[in-house]
Amino acid sequence: MASSSPDPADTSSAVAERFAVVRRRIADACRGAGRDPADVVLTAVTKTQPLEALQQALAAGQRVFGENRVQEAEAHWADVRAATPDLELRLIGPLQTNKAADAVALFDVIETLDRPKLADALAAAAEKSGRILRVLVQVNSGAEPQKAGVLPEAADNLIEYARATGLIVEGLMCIPPADEAAGPHFALLRKIARRNGLEVLSMGMSGDYETAIRFGATHVRVGSALFGERNRPETPSRG
Ligand SMILES: *Cc1c(COP(=O)(O)O)cnc(C)c1O
Repeated sequence: MASSSPDPADTSSAVAERFAVVRRRIADACRGAGRDPADVVLTAVTKTQPLEALQQALAAGQRVFGENRVQEAEAHWADVRAATPDLELRLIGPLQTNKAADAVALFDVIETLDRPKLADALAAAAEKSGRILRVLVQVNSGAEPQKAGVLPEAADNLIEYARATGLIVEGLMCIPPADEAAGPHFALLRKIARRNGLEVLSMGMSGDYETAIRFGATHVRVGSALFGERNRPETPSRG
């Protein structure tokens, strides 16, 4: 496997090779879990990456991307978007209500809906732009005070509230605590999804996407395993 150092001279073949490795591991994890590999979507997380990394990912056939910040995502994708009709952009970082309209203009899916006020803002922005907006509800599965997401016990109510605003709630997203086994958090997310009739489970990152697939992930969000370590240090809980 290619080195994961942040080498600016990283070749496109190194990125292509990492994509091949991650895709193969996803397929293996699916087979191990008795699942169809076609049922798991790889979301390539391009936050903090230079434009050439995006180009290398596109050249490797990748079309689904995750970004943490609206402004950086605009810089990354606004031009590419027009030339790439099958691109899918997913917001995976916290969103302020005053950026809802910008987010709706750029993203296909908002994975970080975590409060009624944001549901209202997204629904209003979607209606204004004549769009039907797909969202995931982010669940703070470990009830960590510094982390975004609705608390598990409040998730059912937020899902119901968001549906009533006209948003299309496709599923749930979580980022388990860094210092705990992820499995129980993935299991909790799946349980909340099932009782609410939700199909999509966005869970699992570079360190635990195979575990997440065993627990039913439909979308895994992978950054450093594809692009190498990020230059700008950033924890996933902060946008
Ligand atoms: C950065 C980030 C990822 C990707 O993390 P890696 O460990 O680099 O794969 C996934 N999800 C969210 C919400 C993130 O912020």
